[in-house]
Parts: sequence; structure tokens; C-alpha cells
Amino acid sequence: MNVIEESARRIPVVAEPDVLVVGGGPAGIGAAVAAARNGAKVLLLERYGFVGGNLTVAMVNPMFTFHDVNGNQVIRGVAGELVELLVKKTASPGHVTDLTFDNASMSPFDPEGMKLVLFELLKEAGVELMLHTTFAEAYAENGRIVSVIVESKSGRQAIRAKTVIDCSADADVAARIGAPFVKGRETDGAMQPVTLFYRVAGVDIGRLKAWMKENRDLLKDSPGDEEIDAQSALAFLGMKEIIQAAVERGEYPKDAAPRILMYELPRDGQFAVNCTRLQGIDGTNVFDLTRAEIETRQQAWAVTEFMKRNIGGFEDAYVLDTGVQVGVRETRHIVGDYTMTEEDVLSSRAFEDGIACGTFAIDIHPPEGEQQVFTGSGKAVYEIPYRSLLPQGIDNLLVAGRCISATHNAFGSVRVMATAMGIGQGAGTAAALAVSREIGMREVPPADIRRLLIEQGQYLLQAEGVEERIDGGLRLTKGDGSGSTASHHNPFGKNGS
Ligand SMILES: Cc1cc2nc3c(=O)[nH]c(=O)nc-3n(C[C@H](O)[C@H](O)[C@H](O)COP(=O)(O)OP(=O)(O)OC[C@H]3O[C@@H](n4cnc5c(N)ncnc54)[C@H](O)[C@@H]3O)c2cc1C
Repeated sequence: MNVIEESARRIPVVAEPDVLVVGGGPAGIGAAVAAARNGAKVLLLERYGFVGGNLTVAMVNPMFTFHDVNGNQVIRGVAGELVELLVKKTASPGHVTDLTFDNASMSPFDPEGMKLVLFELLKEAGVELMLHTTFAEAYAENGRIVSVIVESKSGRQAIRAKTVIDCSADADVAARIGAPFVKGRETDGAMQPVTLFYRVAGVDIGRLKAWMKENRDLLKDSPGDEEIDAQSALAFLGMKEIIQAAVERGEYPKDAAPRILMYELPRDGQFAVNCTRLQGIDGTNVFDLTRAEIETRQQAWAVTEFMKRNIGGFEDAYVLDTGVQVGVRETRHIVGDYTMTEEDVLSSRAFEDGIACGTFAIDIHPPEGEQQVFTGSGKAVYEIPYRSLLPQGIDNLLVAGRCISATHNAFGSVRVMATAMGIGQGAGTAAALAVSREIGMREVPPADIRRLLIEQGQYLLQAEGVEERIDGGLRLTKGDGSGSTASHHNPFGKNGS
């Protein structure tokens, strides 16, 4: 290989936090807020000039999924608070019915409002921020990370932290330190495709609703008039056959997703569009990422042209903006002390060391296929075990978010943003306990993490042999509209009783 050798240099140590959180996405936010609220001195490192990860950077919308089909809000805590804060800022309608898939609710939001609210949440918790700073390297001695090297406009700098939580989504820290990981699907390493999310504006919602009623058969589950009218945030999925024909005529990009999927945002006439798609991209390969940024932007404009010609209400629509970067669904999964499986998800498994719940359907965009495949029903509520956050061979590092230890199929459910934030909260709580007791991450008793999480408003399932029981008062009943104080209407009417 053609290489050069870097010379050794002296690097200033600029911070010595108790807990260093690498990456300010949903997982990083949950981790930083929880660790700080539990008494740790927390530094959050983020490569962009704002936080939010896919919530803001990749402009992914809406947040999935806070509720099981019975209307129980199974992700609460920091993520639940976030939705309530967004609603107060009129940056979200709260939790609303999901017309697109089989999940009980979805939580759309305005990405600009999200940026502001996240800063407020972090400030209130006392989290210190280092923006415009990229994690570059980590050094370990005797199974513990002793320093983290970062790069920014200030040059190369070092951070000495007692504990590190890797929320980079790509397990950058774990990979650099040499902890074992796998990429993508077990059989061949193939990863889910990337998608550039973007916003269209200028949509006439009244005309769109009328068009949806006239063309309901083109939409998933042919929604009735009432369903369409009841939506405080429209969700739109369909047009498969029409798109197939348009691809053949060269009027729709052949690599893009072969259906229209988009979500109304809480700003007049705006939609978040989830339609571009590129297979065969490794989100940890900068040359692949470069190609993806260019090709998916071309797709976004072509898809919008298709919408203007084919969907009522879109006649004057235009591309408002695209994500700061293409959305990467899947890259590395650490090999943790426990690897979550599809069966854990579908059998609603509870764990003695469960630190967060998930309830999203298994959602796999198969790397080789054109069609999105859904298995599972979104009915399963399962727990994420603490052991899946523990990379092997290192003792003061946790991983939270989409790169935890899970099979490709289990990952299809675990990966969504509300769940990622719940996992982050579990990680931050554990890290704060480890720091205050001066013990390693594996020595923190899971029962203590669970107790703290429940005391601080998180929802966990009961597990055999675990003493803690969820306070009956925390359980929410379907149909009473109290699934969240953020709710504008009962999101569960669709599911009957
Ligand atoms: C196209 C697409 C559609 C999706 N649709 C939905 C959906 O509709 N609803 C839903 O809930 N979820 C959806 N998801 C899944 C969800 O967005 C992600 O799985 C989730 O955001 C993962 O959270 P995270 O915190 O682990 O990572 P991220 O959200 O990716 O956040 C990681 C953060 O770390 C930062 N970072 C990364 N590396 C470094 C580094 N080296 N140094 C410093 N900072 C770094 C990043 O800038 C980012 O801010 C979708 C994902 C994609 C890609």
C-alpha cells in the first residue's frame, strides 16, 4: 500500500470530563442529558455546528415510535420530554397516528425547532459542548481508554475522560480502539441503503387531501375520508405501480425508492420526503459517501418533478432544502457482551439488564432488492439489554444508538430515533453510576441502572427475577389521550380498543 508515516507530536489536553459523549445524535443527547442529570461532568463532542444527528443533520422525520399498539407510551424519559418541549415551541404536533406503517404513532417535528430545543435541553442539564469537533483517535492502556484525540479548527487536541460513550452511529471510537465489530448483514456484510432526506415546500394541503380521497387506491391501505381529514400531520405512502411505469418511461430515477413516502411537517405546506435511495454505499467509506451525496441530490430533484406532475397539491412545490448529509442507515455493529436477535424483538423479550424499550417494527430495506420489507408488526415491545452496549475487551467504553450489538434483522427495529434516545439515556445513567462509584462499566449493577431510570420517568418491562416493578400510575391506557401531554388528539383511535 502507498503510505506515509506521521511523526509523533505533543497534543494539548483541553478537557478532563467524567463522561465524554462522542456524537450529538438522538443517542448522544439521551446519554449526555442523563449522565449530567445524574451528577457527572459531561462533555458532548459533535462534528457539526449543531446537535441532533439524523434528527437535524440528515433531516430524518418523523421520530418512531413511542407507543405500542395498545397506546402505552413505552419510550418516555428524555425522549418523551423532548417531544413535549417541541410541542410547547409549536415545533411538533406531538404524537399522531401513523398512516404509513403498522406502528401505533409517529412524532413529526420541525428540524429547525429541534436544533433550538436540543441546545436548551443540554444547557438545562449542564452538558458542556464542543461543536465543530471530530473524533479522530483513541488510545487505551490495560483495557481502558486513557485519551481521545479530536480534530477541529483549533487543530489536534486531546481529552482525558473517565468514561466514554460512543454515540457516533458508526462506532468510530470502538472501531479505532480495536474492539470487535461486524458490518451490515451477517451473511455477506451488505448494509441497508442510504437516503438523502429533503424538504419540499409550497404544497397545497387542501388540494392534496382532495387528491388523496380521489386516489385512495394508490395509497397504502386506501385510507378513508375521515382518516385523511383527521390527520394533524399527513403521512403519505403509495404510488408503487405508477412509479414502476414512470421508471420505465425514464421519468423517475431508477435507483430511488419505488414508492412515495413523505410526512407533513408542522410548517405550512412542508413535507419531509423519504424517497431517494442508493444501494451499495458503505457509510464509513468517504469515497462512497461522496458519490452518494451527488447522486441522491440528483434523485431528489427528479422525484420532486415527478410529484409536481403526478400528485394534486404539488403543482407549485419546490425543494426547500436537503439534509446536511445523506442519511446512513447501517454500518458497524459492535460485538457486545450480548447480541440482540430478531427473536428478542418479535418475542417481546424483557431482560434483567434491560435499559430501554423499543417497539418499532423490523424495517429492512434489503441491500439487494428494490422493495422495502417489513417483518414484525410493531406490536412487540422489547427491552434492550445493557450488555449490548458493552464492547468486548474494553472497560470504560459504552456504545449507544444504532451501532449497539444487534443482528442485521434486530437492528431493523432497534435503529429508530426514539429508541436510540432511550438507549442513550440508559448508557448515560450507567456511566454516571460508574463514575460516582469509581467502578468499571461491567461492575455497575443493572438493577441500579433500572431503578434510577424508572425513578427518572423511563418505562421498562418487568423481567423475572428483577425486583423493580413499574409504578402502575405510569401505565397509560389506550384511548384516554394521555399517551403524552404532547398529544393533540388521541393517536390510537385507528386501532380500536
Ligand atoms: C434515510 C433514513 C431514514 C430513517 N427513517 C427514520 C424514521 O423515519 N424515523 C426514525 O425514528 N428513525 C429513522 N431512521 C433511523 C435513525 O435516523 C437512526 O438510526 C438514528 O438517528 C440513530 O441515532 P444515533 O444517535 O445512533 O446516530 P445519528 O443520528 O447518526 O447521530 C450520530 C451523531 O454523531 C456525530 N458524529 C459521527 N461521527 C462523529 C465523529 N467521528 N466525531 C464527532 N461527531 C460524530 C454525527 O454528526 C451525528 O450528530 C432513518 C435513518 C435513515 C438513514
